[in-house]
Amino acid sequence: MTDVRFGTATDVGSVREANEDAMLAEPPVFVVADGMGGHAHGEVASALVVDHLRGLAGHERLTVDEVTEAVDSLNAVVQEAAWESPALGGMGTTAVGVVVVEHEGAPCWLAFNIGDSRLYRFTAGVLEQVSVDHSLVQELLDSGQITARDIPDHPQRSVITRVLGTAGPVEPDFWLLPLEGRLLLCSDGLSTEVDDGAIAELLAERADPQEAADALVAAALAAGGRDNVTVVVVDV
Ligand code: CA
Repeated sequence: MTDVRFGTATDVGSVREANEDAMLAEPPVFVVADGMGGHAHGEVASALVVDHLRGLAGHERLTVDEVTEAVDSLNAVVQEAAWESPALGGMGTTAVGVVVVEHEGAPCWLAFNIGDSRLYRFTAGVLEQVSVDHSLVQELLDSGQITARDIPDHPQRSVITRVLGTAGPVEPDFWLLPLEGRLLLCSDGLSTEVDDGAIAELLAERADPQEAADALVAAALAAGGRDNVTVVVVDV
């Protein structure tokens, strides 16, 4: 199996009572899910996503189809759990992740995203956001109605436009990425507290992925920790 090293860290933060984030770091699968819903039911939704994708862990030579099928079924997994237990109605979760797949005879990352958790790539000292947030502010930004400078203070900043657990189809985004360098998966508890420049600095300073993950979560807490924060750092 491809040689990957990884580090993970999560924290409830300074304000929230429960940690509704979930994560999975079992090669070749790495996932962060940010659950939402009343009475801590978000924690059920994010755990359902992680448990479902754990079925891919430990498998070598996964195909693109096997992984996309698993990701495509996540919305139904969360919805069915809500139908079976009405108390869980209205729960939802984001999911962002990467899985090593075999594509055209060579291993590469298959990345996926639903919601506003993020995948970043850190290559040769440059941080690049791979995933595109499924959020209202991203749509306003894309259509030119606001600028990036408006986002931090936007009143509807937390409105997500695609979420697992909602009625109707939820279309995940997928990307194929080269199996190289360093990747960062995180919930918005990191990206809303720590800007990209500071994230890049911490990733550059910490060669060890566990130290990098710990430092990123510590930075989010130092900045206020207003949300649950979860980080997975993966080095190939
Ligand atoms: Ca969050």
